[in-house]
Amino acid sequence: MSESSPLEVHVLASGSKGNCTVIKKGNSVILHDVGISCRRIVNGLKELHIDMAQVEGIFVSHEHSDHIAGLQQLLKRFDIPVYTKQGTWREIQDKLIVPKNRLIELTKGSLTLGSLIVEPFSVSHDAADPIGINVFAGNNKATIVTDTGVISDNILRRIDDTTL
Ligand SMILES: [Zn+2]
Repeated sequence: MSESSPLEVHVLASGSKGNCTVIKKGNSVILHDVGISCRRIVNGLKELHIDMAQVEGIFVSHEHSDHIAGLQQLLKRFDIPVYTKQGTWREIQDKLIVPKNRLIELTKGSLTLGSLIVEPFSVSHDAADPIGINVFAGNNKATIVTDTGVISDNILRRIDDTTL
């Protein structure tokens, strides 16, 4: 089933009041930013017929509250790893009470979570170490970028060929 299922991108919230995007292919699900309440995220997933237990990772673009507001409660309730940069995680630990061992530090290169291949890249924003992500699944590609100050050539190159 997961071979033929499409790559889906669902925006649960975007803008200064909170950002949260769901990326899904088959049974593989990741979240990009969790800047709305845990309850809104759980309910939003439920409407998409996704259980929190399916979520393989939370990618955090940067530490501003409209991107992490739901993180503390989510990590308290669910055993999900957080994928972000070391600098971002440091800032998050200053703002929220989060289990220290939940970080999976993003470095160069891509990583595979189920049917999804995720490739982080740096963006320009007034935060510690902000990132966007490319998600590849089969022949599909989605690029998630929020809050970037400057669309650099690097970002344009990353968006190039994006089919969603
Ligand atoms: Zn921001």
